[in-house]
Amino acid sequence: MVCDTHCHFFSSRFLELLTQGTEVSGDRAAAVSTKLGWDPPGTPEELADRWVVELDRHTVARVALIASVPGDEASVRTAVIRHPTRFVGFFMFNPAAGDARSRLVPLFEGGHLRVVALFPAMHRYRLDDPVVETVFEVAADAGAAVFVHCGMLTVGVRKRLGLPSSFDLRLGDPLGVAAVAARHPAVPVIIPHFGAGFFREALMAVDQCANILLDTSSSNGWMKYYPGLTLDGVFQQALAVAGPERLLFGTDSSFFPRGWQKPVHDAQVAALAAVRATHEARSRVMGGNFARLFPLS
Ligand SMILES: [Zn+2]
Repeated sequence: MVCDTHCHFFSSRFLELLTQGTEVSGDRAAAVSTKLGWDPPGTPEELADRWVVELDRHTVARVALIASVPGDEASVRTAVIRHPTRFVGFFMFNPAAGDARSRLVPLFEGGHLRVVALFPAMHRYRLDDPVVETVFEVAADAGAAVFVHCGMLTVGVRKRLGLPSSFDLRLGDPLGVAAVAARHPAVPVIIPHFGAGFFREALMAVDQCANILLDTSSSNGWMKYYPGLTLDGVFQQALAVAGPERLLFGTDSSFFPRGWQKPVHDAQVAALAAVRATHEARSRVMGGNFARLFPLS
């Protein structure tokens, strides 16, 4: 059973919000899609159905869908309600934008959205800011998980559209995640891309806090910061420190027609085989841990 912990739901609303304030005439989502060479996402229902067809084609059981700009939560909620056995709802949230508690609490209502995703380098706040504590408190009350993007942050679609991306990478330190995660041991915390460059710090955070998990998603281009490091080496070390129970397979798939990123999957399966991970370890990483974290309700 394959479950993917990291897919972006690039809805029409996502494209509209992302390009707000820029000059586009007519149907904004369609115009931006054309500019990017993507298929227009259509309605959230249409996009959700397209995802299911794609997952069936690759025999992927379930995936996390991330609402990838604040304000697009409803699109992912619609997708989850339509296909509750296939999708788990994540959403990007900026706690520094004020009234964190009163904005966050309603987003978890109904249980369709289960993970709040923080991007401190993008939204420019420190992980020891009280607003982050608030996010963890609300997540604990809701039985939700927290995703914290650390390390290198490049948003391909922003780059291609020429949108400003003045991120402060110092703010995405896994050790900052460890500090707050330790105070909320019942809240599962996901650090994507093995820390995206902060590999050592991500392993230290995992070592310190039993509630921190790493997602394996993307091509892990950050490996270039570590001379000689290979994907095999990354998996070997992550398995040694985090153990097979705390690694979550992911691809970082996003738009169509490209669809689900099978080459990323295949590279990770090959790496797990190369480091002689047991069958049990592999099945946990590729889907078992996802199922444990997000049981079907
Ligand atoms: Zn991503």
